[in-house]
Amino acid sequence: MRTFRKKILLGYGASLLLIIVVLSLAVVLILRLGRASESILRENYQSIQAAENMIDAVERQDSATLLILLGYQRQGASEFRENETLFLQWLGRAKDNITISGEKEIIDTLEKGYARYLSEISNLQLLYQSAPTQAANAYHEAVLPLFRSIRDACIKLRDLNHETMYAASNRANKISVQAVFSISVIGGVSVLLVIVFSMFVSHLISRPVTELKEAALQVAQANYNVQVPVRGSDEVALLATQFNLMVEKLKQFHDMNIGRIIAEKRKSEAIIRSVDDGIVVVDDNFLITNFNPEAAKIFGVFPEDSLEKHILEVMRDERLFGFLKEALASGQPPRIEEGEDILTIKTGEESRHYQVSIVPMRTPSGVNPGVVLLLRDITRHRELDRLKSEFVMTASHELRTPLTSINMAVDLLRESAAPKLTDQEQALLEACHEDVQRLRALVNDLLDLSKIEAGKLELSFEPVQPHFLCDQALSIIKSQAESKGIELNSAVPQDLPEVTADPHKIVWVLVNLLANAMRYTKAGGHIKLAGDRVGNQVQLAVTDDGEGIPFDLQPRIFDKFVHGKPSDGGGSGLGLAISKEIVKAHRGAIWVDSSPGQGSTFTFTLPIAA
Ligand code: ADP
Repeated sequence: MRTFRKKILLGYGASLLLIIVVLSLAVVLILRLGRASESILRENYQSIQAAENMIDAVERQDSATLLILLGYQRQGASEFRENETLFLQWLGRAKDNITISGEKEIIDTLEKGYARYLSEISNLQLLYQSAPTQAANAYHEAVLPLFRSIRDACIKLRDLNHETMYAASNRANKISVQAVFSISVIGGVSVLLVIVFSMFVSHLISRPVTELKEAALQVAQANYNVQVPVRGSDEVALLATQFNLMVEKLKQFHDMNIGRIIAEKRKSEAIIRSVDDGIVVVDDNFLITNFNPEAAKIFGVFPEDSLEKHILEVMRDERLFGFLKEALASGQPPRIEEGEDILTIKTGEESRHYQVSIVPMRTPSGVNPGVVLLLRDITRHRELDRLKSEFVMTASHELRTPLTSINMAVDLLRESAAPKLTDQEQALLEACHEDVQRLRALVNDLLDLSKIEAGKLELSFEPVQPHFLCDQALSIIKSQAESKGIELNSAVPQDLPEVTADPHKIVWVLVNLLANAMRYTKAGGHIKLAGDRVGNQVQLAVTDDGEGIPFDLQPRIFDKFVHGKPSDGGGSGLGLAISKEIVKAHRGAIWVDSSPGQGSTFTFTLPIAA
């Protein structure tokens, strides 16, 4: 397998090879140049040396010949022989070193001329011995021209070699210039080749990496339709194959997820659609993102038309919009007072009532993407409530008159006929009296409550001092407390601001609270009535140290017909419910703090008069 590393090494290897080629070429050229200069020097120098020595030898031989002619025969002859040997020696060397054309011809001429010169010299020596006077003439005519021709031949040989040497030096010069030129050209071409090759190799190596980078960028932008081309079988090709596989898997996963998300969306839409209550989902810009058919029916619009619309375009209720805003801002369900969560929609003659729940959505990361609005149709419940209240009102009203006459009759009997009755009959009459009293109280309470619920409670508000209300209530309850042995205290400051209230109704509430406190406090116990200003309200509180209220009962204590123990022998379980309605009608609130066994505190508020 050709690996990625091998590819890189191949790139470097090729460049290295080129460098080696250029270097070898330079070495070869330099060697060639050296060898050429060396041979020129060696060959031509030897020939020149031979020619010079031959000139030397033949000139000395000529001088020796003159010595003989001058009478120094022995000395001249020996000098001649010496130089003859030298001449022949150098001639032999010149013959061994024939390298130039024309050189051989010169040497042949020289050899033949020298042989003739030697024989003429022998003749001259013989002539000298027989006729010395003729010898000088013979020298002049036969020997001297020969000597000159030999000397000229030697000079020619030397000059020929000189010329050749000069030509060779010129040639060497040319070779060196050529070498510099060719090395420069080949070096330049090699550099170009290395550059081109390096670019090619770097492109070859970097191209798949660039392709991978670009594909990865596409995948990061959720475009899974990318494939990296796979070339060859090296590591990068393997990486590209794995990358393509990974993208394929990611695509499958993405498609699967999209499918799942769509299925989940359809499921939740189906759930929302099938719910009987109206559901409206708004995003953080209050644009409707979900709207079920029930909600569409409530608001009298088409579900499709309402999507992406602002909630106020569909539900024109600023009060509910305020709650929506509060829920979105805080991420918590808004605080809605009881009764405030009802949306009434009128269509022609008919009014429908919906209980509204507002639930902010929350993602696990704490983002608040919107709010869910749930509308439950309570028109029927309200109607039933109204019918019940009307029935209770009518029944109590109808019961009140006969009960009054029964009460009068029983009272009359107790006063006039009592002495004539037996003890047992008297006890029966007393029981009858108590039952009638309790029934009257119950009927009165029921009548009051149904009037309040039907909105028929008439309140006449006026500015009134809180301590005035408290004094009135205390005066009503005082004798009862005394007879029960309970200490009654008032700590209502005189300087509290006036409140807006219906004095009769508030005194009723106070008396009811004090009566309750008395009922659930043993003899020797204490009851305290306190008052305080908090903001723009006055708080009145009735505290006792009686038996207290069990914790599980406390949240329901203000509901209708809620009793502690049936054996209490107390009232109807309507007192606190009526008190709450009265306080509410005064735009106040009522609540209880109680610890079982330690006592209770009932507190209610009234608005300070403007
Ligand atoms: P009732 O007419 O029965 O007193 P209320 O609505 O006034 O009805 O009171 C409901 C119940 O609350 C009582 O039955 C009693 O159990 C409890 N309760 C009210 N006031 C007190 C109190 N001061 N101490 C203990 N329990 C109390």
